[in-house]
Amino acid sequence: MKIEENFPLRQLNTFGIEAFARYFAAIKSEDELIEAVSGKFRSDKVLVIGDGSNIVFKGDFDGLVMKSAMRGIRIIPEHDLDNPLVEAHSGESWQNLVDFALSNGLYGIENLAAIPGSVGAAPVQNIGAYGVEIRDVLHSVEAIDIRSGKSIAFSNSECEFGYRHSIFKGALNGRCFVTKILLKLSKTPSFKIDYSGLRQKLSSAGSQLSARLIAGTIEKIRRERLPDPSKIGNCGSFFKNCLVTEDAYNELKCRFPAIPGFEESSGLIKIPSAWLIEECGWKGYRRGDAAVYPGHALILVNYGNAAGADILTLAEEITGSVYERFGLMLELEAQVI
Ligand SMILES: Cc1cc2nc3c(=O)[nH]c(=O)nc-3n(C[C@H](O)[C@H](O)[C@H](O)COP(=O)(O)OP(=O)(O)OC[C@H]3O[C@@H](n4cnc5c(N)ncnc54)[C@H](O)[C@@H]3O)c2cc1C
Repeated sequence: MKIEENFPLRQLNTFGIEAFARYFAAIKSEDELIEAVSGKFRSDKVLVIGDGSNIVFKGDFDGLVMKSAMRGIRIIPEHDLDNPLVEAHSGESWQNLVDFALSNGLYGIENLAAIPGSVGAAPVQNIGAYGVEIRDVLHSVEAIDIRSGKSIAFSNSECEFGYRHSIFKGALNGRCFVTKILLKLSKTPSFKIDYSGLRQKLSSAGSQLSARLIAGTIEKIRRERLPDPSKIGNCGSFFKNCLVTEDAYNELKCRFPAIPGFEESSGLIKIPSAWLIEECGWKGYRRGDAAVYPGHALILVNYGNAAGADILTLAEEITGSVYERFGLMLELEAQVI
C-alpha cells in the first residue's frame, strides 16, 4: 500500500474545493486498511472518504485521508431465492450497484438511481430519493473499527438510521471504515412512484412499467434539475429539509399561508428548506465563486475557485436569515471536514 504525502484533494471532492491531505492512501483490502491504521496512524487524525460528493473541506486535512478502493458486487449464492442478498464492497460506485440490480432483475433500489457517490458512504448517509432510503433494503454493514483494527458487523437496526443519518454519523462518527454492505433485494416488483411528479412522468407506461424505466426516468429528472458536478462544483443538497410537529407547522401556516408541508410516516411535517431559502431571497445569489444554484435553492455551488470558507460563510448567512424570518434552524446535510 502506498501512503502519499501532501496529496491534493480537489479532484476527490465534487465541490472542487482546493485542499491537501497530509497523507493519503487508497485502500484495496482489509489487510491494507489494518496496516494503514496500525502503528504510526493509530492515534493520528484519520478521515475516510468515498467519492467526496457530500463533503466540504474548510481547509487542509492534517492527518491520513483514506479512500476505499475495495471492489466487487455479487449475489450471495443459495440464500433466499425470492429476496436475494447482494454484497457490495465500499469502493464501488453506488450507480454500479444500481446497474447490477437492474441487470439481474432485482428490485428495491431503482428509485436511488443516479445518486453520486460510493457504496461505502450510502449507509453512512442513509441515502434517499423519490420515497426510498437505503435503510428500506439494507440487510447489514461490515466495517473495521479504525482505532482497534477489529471487524464489526451492524444489522439494519444497529445502524440507527434516521433522515440522512446513521450511527456512523452519530455515536460512531469517524470511528468506522465501511468495507462492504449487504442489501436484501426482491425478485418481485413493488414500485414506488408516488413521489414528486414521478407518477405523472410514468403515466403513459402502463404495463410497460419496469425498474429500468423508473431508474431511467429518475436519471433524466435529476439531470434536468441538478447541476452536474463535473461542470459546476456542488455536493447536492447542502441543507436537510426541516421536520416540525403538526402544531409548529400550523402556527407557521397562519403566519406564512403559502408555506408547503408534507406529512412524514413519523407524523412530523417536512418543510422543504429550498422554499424557505428562496423566500429569503437567496436563490441565484452569488458572491465571488460561491453561490446558491439558480435552479434549486438547496444547492450551494462553486463556480470555480471558491474556498471551503466562502461556501461555509454563505451557508451561515443563509441559516441566519432563515432563522430570523421563520424561527427554523437549518441543519447541514453535507459533512464539513
Ligand atoms: C448532484 C448531487 C446530487 C445528490 N443527490 C442526492 C440524493 O438524491 N440523495 C442523497 O441521499 N444524497 C444525494 N447526494 C449526496 C451524496 O451523493 C451522498 O451523500 C453520497 O452517499 C456520498 O457518497 P460519497 O462516496 O461521495 O461520500 P463522501 O462525500 O466521500 O463522504 C460522505 C460521508 O461518508 C463517510 N464515508 C465515505 N465512505 C466511507 C466508508 N467507506 N466508511 C465510512 N465512512 C465513509 C465520509 O467520512 C463522510 O462523512 C447528492 C450529491 C450530489 C453531488
